Amino acid sequence: MHDEKAMTVAPYIQMFYNKSIKTGDRKDTSMLSPRAQKIKPSPTLAIDSRAKAMKASGVDVVNFGVGEPDFDTPDNIKEAACRAIRDGFTKYTPVGGIDPLKDAIIEKFGSDNGIAYSREQIVVSCGAKHSLYNIAQALYGQGDEVIIPSPYWVSYPDQVLLNDAQPVFVPTYEKDSFMVKPEALVACITGKTKALILNSPSNPTGMVYDRKTLEKIAELAVRHKFYVISDEIYEKLVYDSAVHISIASLGDEIRARTIVVNGLSKSHAMTGWRLGFTAGPADVIKAMTNIQSQSTSNPCSITQKAAVEALKGPQDFIALMRSEFDKRRTFIVNELNTIPGMHCVTPNGAFYAFPNTAKIYGSRFGGKTIASSTDLALYLLEEAQVALVPGDAFGDDNYLRISYATSLDDIRKGTERIRQAVQNLAPVK
Ligand code: PMP
Repeated sequence: MHDEKAMTVAPYIQMFYNKSIKTGDRKDTSMLSPRAQKIKPSPTLAIDSRAKAMKASGVDVVNFGVGEPDFDTPDNIKEAACRAIRDGFTKYTPVGGIDPLKDAIIEKFGSDNGIAYSREQIVVSCGAKHSLYNIAQALYGQGDEVIIPSPYWVSYPDQVLLNDAQPVFVPTYEKDSFMVKPEALVACITGKTKALILNSPSNPTGMVYDRKTLEKIAELAVRHKFYVISDEIYEKLVYDSAVHISIASLGDEIRARTIVVNGLSKSHAMTGWRLGFTAGPADVIKAMTNIQSQSTSNPCSITQKAAVEALKGPQDFIALMRSEFDKRRTFIVNELNTIPGMHCVTPNGAFYAFPNTAKIYGSRFGGKTIASSTDLALYLLEEAQVALVPGDAFGDDNYLRISYATSLDDIRKGTERIRQAVQNLAPVK
């Protein structure tokens, strides 16, 4: 049984982690562009689709790989979309989004973040990933360096590479709550630094930046004249005493250098609808809109109407979802911390736990050594039918990323399976 599963699972997943398709390692003379050859498929989506395929074929998989809320999109939002269809709002719209949506976004930035924007400073795109891609297209080029604190969200480095620029990774550590140290940032800044990508609350660490650190980063960005790309997609999901602060709200100078990305995927359980938005300097927004006009045109007209309702309608759904996530967060972190060899700090944002698993590396199973996060993730998928993402995909091999955007029952079952599987390993000698 296990052998059969190993044969069907391992080659597929290994394909995505095959070092030969990682940046710079290709030797073949493909007809594909150098740009296309530089990048790899999103590992988080790869794991998720593999877990879903296993589930569809009857395997009882616990899927901790997902990066989307397990809640349904609220009915009032769905109804707004149905209304848009019935009213025939099904044609092209202005490329950067309809005015009522831009106005709702402006209102959101005013009330949630205390930042005033005008319509020329807003562009709506097909998801925050698309927003980030348009930013990369508008800003990065040959010779530019883009600083990315690691662990990072998987798409940042590849979007930099796709636009011929160079990612510069600055490591962050658990002991600093995974916040970038200003002195470490200073060491990375050169005359070529074009931007810093900041993500708070963070995927994968779940950590939220504090005001003091943001102020220091802002000061550096202003002094060294680089942009801050602030990905705030998990803004609404913060716990305990954590407060989300947009770096753009810290003063006029930093606001002029910050490009804020946000969207509805996580806050309103709207991953499939594809709606993200960007606020920033008018020249950057104009360039992004031009790029969008030559690539995708407007985001879906129906989604835009739904988005107006999401932003302006009742918001109680968010509090309900957040309080559910909060319960799961407490439960999963407690469970993970009782598994031998694992150690998990309590995240105060997003919906990911990020346990340190380095102590497990070197242990053995069936003649094989678990030497990395990828080995451990593969082992857990094959032997415990638990899907999660190896830390390597986020630039730190010492960790696994576990999404708790799934039911408490699944979390209970999944953590129990992980515990059993880890206990079945022969200990590190
Ligand atoms: N940024 C981060 C940090 C994310 O985790 C995600 C989704 N996983 C996105 C951006 C993209 O979100 P979407 O395109 O669905 O709006």
